[in-house]
Amino acid sequence: MRRTTAEEAAATLLAANKVVIMPGYGLAVAQAQHKVRELYDSLTKRGVDMKFGIHPVAGRMPGHMNVLLAEADIPYDKLLSMDEINGDFPQTDVALIIGANDVTNPAARSDTSSPIYGMPILDVDKARTVMVIKRSMAAGFAGIENPLYYLDRTLMLFGDAKGVVGNIVRELSGGGHS
Ligand code: NDP
Repeated sequence: MRRTTAEEAAATLLAANKVVIMPGYGLAVAQAQHKVRELYDSLTKRGVDMKFGIHPVAGRMPGHMNVLLAEADIPYDKLLSMDEINGDFPQTDVALIIGANDVTNPAARSDTSSPIYGMPILDVDKARTVMVIKRSMAAGFAGIENPLYYLDRTLMLFGDAKGVVGNIVRELSGGGHS
């Protein structure tokens, strides 16, 4: 498992052409949507192509993520459904997962013994770099391990989603940590 810092995350995002953000339940808990909007603005301004990949059951109710991102005025045409975005991951430089877990778990595709086997997931593991923001290695709603976190291409950024995204935004604006 590889950890990263807000500073390294900011540099990786800035070097990317295409970034897809996957929001999940943890983004809602942290109320990080406005910081995510700042991240979106900051990277878009610097020429990074930004999109959002929305899993139909991300969060705890249908449409949960769409409502949160709309509240932060993220343009609706940047929100793509799982089926629309899944073909894009092999051409995606960074898949940034913010407080989502089960909906990105590749065991659903390959592990016949997994309780979520057969559930369609966001194919984030096909992106060049995977970055995950969550507080710990704790499981999500389904209560199971996520092998995504142990891939060579995955970087873990531990902390509350609002605080961590805020730190990345600060790094992007050249301000450093508070
Ligand atoms: P998950 O529950 O799988 O994962 C959410 C992750 O967010 C957790 O692993 C947690 O990790 C992290 N998290 C929690 N609080 C914070 C925080 N403050 N900052 C950063 N991260 C945080 O959510 P997903 O959205 O990926 O998947 C939804 C799950 O809910 C699916 O299993 C789905 O079946 C289920 N579900 C969905 C419904 C719907 O209608 N959408 C209804 C009922 C269930 P950590 O603790 O390490 O921070």
